[in-house]
Amino acid sequence: MKKKVGFLGWRGMVGSVLLKRMKKKKDFKKIKSFFFTTSQVGQKSPNIKNVGNIFLYDAYDISILKELDIIVTCQGSAYTNTIFFKLRKICWKGYWIDASSTLRMNSDSIIVLDPINYNNILSGLNFGIKTFVGGNCTVSLMLLALGGLFQKKLIDWVSVSTYQAISGGGAKHLQELLLQIKYISKIIQKNEKYLEFSILELEHKILKSLFHNNFPKEYLKVPLVNSLIPWIDTLMKNGQSKEEWKGMAETNKILSSKKKIYIDGNCVRISSLRCHSQSFTIKLLKNVSISDIYTLIQEHNKWVKIIPNVPEETMQYLTPTFVSGTLKIPIGRIRKLNFGELYLSAFSVGDQLLWGAAEPLRRILKILIS
Ligand code: NAP
Repeated sequence: MKKKVGFLGWRGMVGSVLLKRMKKKKDFKKIKSFFFTTSQVGQKSPNIKNVGNIFLYDAYDISILKELDIIVTCQGSAYTNTIFFKLRKICWKGYWIDASSTLRMNSDSIIVLDPINYNNILSGLNFGIKTFVGGNCTVSLMLLALGGLFQKKLIDWVSVSTYQAISGGGAKHLQELLLQIKYISKIIQKNEKYLEFSILELEHKILKSLFHNNFPKEYLKVPLVNSLIPWIDTLMKNGQSKEEWKGMAETNKILSSKKKIYIDGNCVRISSLRCHSQSFTIKLLKNVSISDIYTLIQEHNKWVKIIPNVPEETMQYLTPTFVSGTLKIPIGRIRKLNFGELYLSAFSVGDQLLWGAAEPLRRILKILIS
């Protein structure tokens, strides 16, 4: 009999990418799917094969949720905090698959990234683990990009600076950035005469407009267009942002590292719409030649691709524009740093909605239903 699978948060950034990918891979054929909402109860379910409900169910209706074999939620942490524990309390025995961070570090959950930790996933399943959580987007993308070096235990520590797209903050943030772009586009249109002869006059007008009372910043709080935000998520006691804290905590959990790998650096929100980029300074545990590093990285998985350290190919292929909407993990700028033979530079880009969120969830669902 087909497993009954409930989808929560399917309308959001991660959820809609997950649905699109599952349709493409014909995953819905193998399950009976049920769709839920927190805001649109009674409206039509998406047009999907084997859909169990024509009209959307209430995401808070425990009496329906408890009948499901598997719940896949991309609704966010607040939803998980409200519903997960209620379901477990009434002894619901189904599998919970989650995009949010709430349950990631729990001892009875596994962070899923099967090209990296397939064996852990399998032994967890045999052990009776029922909670599978997608990792933080930059962590998953880093592990796929540097998988060959982590696998060979060559990494002592990583210092990372991230350049994270606005869709990483969810649908409302993306919407607001687009409104900000529209706002300054109007200023440019009104002042086109300055484009040719007095470009700094136009720059000044744009800058001034960012401080207008009606400039859209309800969710972002500040302008992101023409700017960046060097803070993502909440403040931790040690001065890190929570996004920065996740880097080391989740990497070590996914790798089940016996020797802790130190990872730290600044996470920055930029105004690209999709894809997270990361600049790494890596301290190796031993001197490995660049050509061996190329081989180790390239042979680790089929999505990673080395971009030669030359300007033309870097500008063409190591960008969010090239990667958006794909599973590609290009990595380039690979070179030894002035600090010494053990210090390596690399730069990588990945689609945070695909490998950074939806794809690991789709793949664990596939493992569970097979
Ligand atoms: P999101 O886009 O904000 O969507 C979450 C829910 O918000 C939707 O399912 C929808 O629920 C509601 N919503 C309200 N206004 C909406 C609109 N205009 N368009 C679409 N949905 C709207 O959140 P998300 O970015 O997908 O993130 C979901 C979870 O995944 C979060 O815990 C996040 O931390 C995690 N995550 C996100 C990313 C990423 O790159 N975004 C990466 C990794 C992990 P209803 O249909 O019930 O109203």
